[in-house]
Amino acid sequence: MTQIIELSAPSSRGSTTGRSSNNAGLGPEAGTRQAKPGEAKAQREKIGQSEPSWTIQSILELYELPFLDLLLQAQAQHRLHHQPNTVQLSSLLSIKTGACPEDCAYCPQSSRYDTGLKSEALMPLDEVLEAARKAKENGAQRFCMGAAWRSPTARQVDAVAAMVAAVKALGLETCVTLGMLKDGQAEQLRDAGLDYYNHNLDTSPEFYGNIISTRHYQDRLDTLERVRGAGLHVCCGGIVGMGESREIRAGLIAALAGLDPYPESVPVNQLVKAPGTPLADAPDLDPIEFVRTIAVTRIVMPRAVVRLSAGRESMHDSTQALCFMAGANSIFHGERLLTTPNPQAQADARLFERLGLVPMPEAESCTP
Ligand code: SF4
Repeated sequence: MTQIIELSAPSSRGSTTGRSSNNAGLGPEAGTRQAKPGEAKAQREKIGQSEPSWTIQSILELYELPFLDLLLQAQAQHRLHHQPNTVQLSSLLSIKTGACPEDCAYCPQSSRYDTGLKSEALMPLDEVLEAARKAKENGAQRFCMGAAWRSPTARQVDAVAAMVAAVKALGLETCVTLGMLKDGQAEQLRDAGLDYYNHNLDTSPEFYGNIISTRHYQDRLDTLERVRGAGLHVCCGGIVGMGESREIRAGLIAALAGLDPYPESVPVNQLVKAPGTPLADAPDLDPIEFVRTIAVTRIVMPRAVVRLSAGRESMHDSTQALCFMAGANSIFHGERLLTTPNPQAQADARLFERLGLVPMPEAESCTP
């Protein structure tokens, strides 16, 4: 049951966005009480109808709020739409590693960079299933499979569809990321039991050419349209800490919010500086700026599951705690995130215990 929490005015500067507090900040009824059955949903729908269209400028105004005001607004939005103190545990498996022809400047799997990564062919179905079983035993509710392809062939989609069907039969929510899709492929994956397709915008349209030259922003949008057209849930986010400005980060969030409807799932990745990639020496992003990015994402896309994704391994526990306060409600669980290290399950369990967090109930995880 969603709780309406007791909070007072969001900002010492007043409404810098020019929106009603209903949209940008606090719940309209700010007294402490329990929502009646069905009320939270009705409220969600009401708010959904009045969600504003976000501009880069209005997103920058959120970024510029005093940190505590921003966190308060984000947490209030979070509690209007999600169970407080619950975090979805996802597991991500690289089912085909390396040798990717694309040139994404952050990625150790690109064949263009000498990163020392060992390429691996598509995993056999039984190994994928074994990994999915183990992930479920370790508490994962969602199993994501990633393949380093520019665009999968028909045979490759056949193989992945079989994996999706088998993983789904274990009772796990399924997600895949396979690159750009052609007509009909999203439908095939949907029919196999796929819940989400991941395809990140990565960064803002203006900065995209600095990061990737082998495909265009429009290619990403076209695949997202195919995914949406097939009736799949969209998982789409980006990466920060690639040397971009705050305005570029705001541009990414505006682009995500401008998808109609906005993604049900928004991974926010902090760059993992992989040796050998062009971004190996990118400047560190201030952790407070990262938390601000999570908070702004939560406010702008209040119903989405906001995924605290890559970069957690080097993130202090207190930064992660602030990210949860700012509205992150999913993490990737397990020792590796595709090809980069990730905090171990035990460290996550300890952090959850210290913070009083619990895994998201399965029923909630697929209905953002
Ligand atoms: S991010 Fe994906 S598309 Fe880009 S190089 Fe890596 S595996 Fe290839």
